Amino acid sequence: MRIARLDARPLSIPLREPFVISSGRVDSTRGALVVARIVDERSSTVHRGLGEAAALPAVTGVDQPDLLRAIARANGVLAGQSVEGHSDLRALLDDAFDDPVSRAGAEAALLDAWGKKERLPAHALLGSVKNGAGAFHVTTDVTLPIAEPAHVGELASGWQGAGFTAFKVKVGRDLDDDARTLEQLARRCPKAEVRLDANGALAARDAMTLISIVRGLHLTLGCFEQPCAADDLEGMAHVTLLAGAPVVADESVKTIDDLFTVAHKKAATAVNLKLMKHGGPVEAGRIGRAAQRLGMKIMVGAMVETRLGLAASLHLARSLGKVDLVDLDTSLLLRWDPFEGGYAQRGAELTLLEGDGIGVGEAAAA
Ligand SMILES: [Mg+2]
Repeated sequence: MRIARLDARPLSIPLREPFVISSGRVDSTRGALVVARIVDERSSTVHRGLGEAAALPAVTGVDQPDLLRAIARANGVLAGQSVEGHSDLRALLDDAFDDPVSRAGAEAALLDAWGKKERLPAHALLGSVKNGAGAFHVTTDVTLPIAEPAHVGELASGWQGAGFTAFKVKVGRDLDDDARTLEQLARRCPKAEVRLDANGALAARDAMTLISIVRGLHLTLGCFEQPCAADDLEGMAHVTLLAGAPVVADESVKTIDDLFTVAHKKAATAVNLKLMKHGGPVEAGRIGRAAQRLGMKIMVGAMVETRLGLAASLHLARSLGKVDLVDLDTSLLLRWDPFEGGYAQRGAELTLLEGDGIGVGEAAAA
């Protein structure tokens, strides 16, 4: 195939309410919709693919205008290039992009177009193993932002009514507020599975305090994601040793070398794979398979993304065969959904729809 060109436009969908985590806040998605056009060199047919690049400035560093510029500029390297397989694509994308977020959106769009050309789902291009198990389902948690504890309790009970049992609870800004939030959760959803996520804000001893609070409230601790700062691997190792639940490295693992360091220092027992962090589904898959070989658990997560980004992440999950923790909920936090297809959602259960490429299209304008 030959890459014709990439185009990008802003993807700014307002959130139902502000998304607040220990390191920052957003009120709408700050992404770019990437449209890739490739040409089948035998038939001269043009195939169009869609990908999402999603910035969350507090976490990703880059913001929406950076993405739009980077994707426009990448045409200087990519337009007109012939691609035979993964290694060509990888080399070209490495050349064309400096930041992993724009790269991820471009790679997803190119995989979508490539899948349409080959009449294969994206997960097959990512190396999924054929299994006779039929439809691929996962159960996602839902994220509770940092907010007034009583309000977080109300949000949780609404989600519980909609079929969610696992809650990702954002913590780490104020321990007393975190404790009150957990009390509210225990009162309204006593059977909840709690997945704490401090986005790196805590010292190990404060992380351990939160764990005792969860246990004291008789809530199930599903995991503790990034309790300590990305480079505080000693703190992470301390929590890993004592948590009695998986400790998930998110900000600590951006590259495959980070994964090996974290594993060597026993600083986590699980890793959160995100397309935007690793530069796209191909590298995320490589890191995921390395983590599986190391005996680590896999979480598949996302930034604040629409259905398009989440569907690409589901193809990643399907390509890995088994994932342990799924955090693909952010389309539920949006006021509207500009896309359709990709997966079907019933409550917390997501079912990948079989089709060519990523399988998501733009919704007809209302
Ligand atoms: Mg996280």
